[in-house]
Amino acid sequence: MTAGPVYDRMAIRWDAVMMPNYGTPPVALVRGAGSTVWDADGHTYLDLVGGIAVSSLGHAHPAIVEAVSRQVATLAHTSNLAIHEPGVRLAERLLGLLGAAGRVFFCQDGATANEAALKLVRRHGWGLDPTGGRLRVVATGGGFHGRTFGALSVTGIPSKRAPFEPLPGPVTFVPYGDAEALTESVDDTVAAVIVEPTLGEGGVVAPPAGYLAAARAACDRVGALLVVDEVQSGIGRTGEWFSATAQGVLPDIVTLAKGLGGGLPIGACLGVGSAGRLFEPGDHGSTFGGNPVSCAAALAVLDTIETEDLLTHVKDVGELWATGFDAVDHSLLSGHRGLGLWRALVLTQPVSGPVETAARNAGFLVNAVRPDVIRLAPPLILTADEADSFVHALPAILDAAEAAA
Ligand code: PLP
Repeated sequence: MTAGPVYDRMAIRWDAVMMPNYGTPPVALVRGAGSTVWDADGHTYLDLVGGIAVSSLGHAHPAIVEAVSRQVATLAHTSNLAIHEPGVRLAERLLGLLGAAGRVFFCQDGATANEAALKLVRRHGWGLDPTGGRLRVVATGGGFHGRTFGALSVTGIPSKRAPFEPLPGPVTFVPYGDAEALTESVDDTVAAVIVEPTLGEGGVVAPPAGYLAAARAACDRVGALLVVDEVQSGIGRTGEWFSATAQGVLPDIVTLAKGLGGGLPIGACLGVGSAGRLFEPGDHGSTFGGNPVSCAAALAVLDTIETEDLLTHVKDVGELWATGFDAVDHSLLSGHRGLGLWRALVLTQPVSGPVETAARNAGFLVNAVRPDVIRLAPPLILTADEADSFVHALPAILDAAEAAA
């Protein structure tokens, strides 16, 4: 077992003061460098979770350390009562990468990016029909968009929604990946469709080719907005800046968070064309959204991805993983899926918990995202050798999990 006496004491203190919405985390981390993290008892791990697809440049990356240190020593906070250069520059950069004219709203995380998107959708719906006949949102079963009330209202995981009903609506859920069902449900009562390019929390499940294009066409037919949630998929995770535009689909609204800040909290809601001008002054806001320090970190992330050609690197190392996993022959492993450095190991039994524990004991942090699925979302700087070390360790990890289950 990797836990130790320091962890044990911390876990007792954690249990005494933290709300029980998370299970007690099985590890206490104190330090990181590159794709390696150290726990409170001195064990090291290869971080293949990346703080749930967040630590895009790994830990303590010099570009982020430099940008954040410089910004915090210059001007840490302004609120939205003042313009600041990192915020304007980041908005310009994101729109440039998206390749579209538009406007940006900055917030703190994925849920608040989707809250902004849903308020834009409301504005759009009321604009289309002042009697309130165009407020319906079409979302997908298995889709995850966040824990706040609006984001939860379009999250297609009943167990997460049920304790908090009633939620805002109307929302219609259609099976993820079924273009026909989505097209059929988009009629002239619909203000928007919200969709992930690949289900993240749902277990790294990509839809069939053409799915996003079908959603785009369905929205265009009735004047509904297409909202693409790139909170997990965006900013290099799949080897592309944006999954949607990589598939030739330009959404009306794109939401971002997670990897954008490389570990600093930031979310963004990008409105393309007229969708970027739906808010009127006073409609929405955030005290901390687009904080200069977080914007400086995000700019460092974008610069580093660009200058080090990490998009190509992510595709290359992702392919190496795919080839490596193909060659693992184990009764617990039924296959793998995913793109770039966003991968799922699909198990033959619901033993992802024991696999996560066995991996940790072997020095790898992985994520049991579904009972039979292990998610890998490491730093985008993961080296080929580091990726390879996990492939080589995997059979023994699966053996240990099988023995423990
Ligand atoms: N959207 C997607 C696709 C996500 O994967 C997540 C989080 O996992 C969210 C939204 C919510 O993001 P946050 O936890 O930063 O609020």
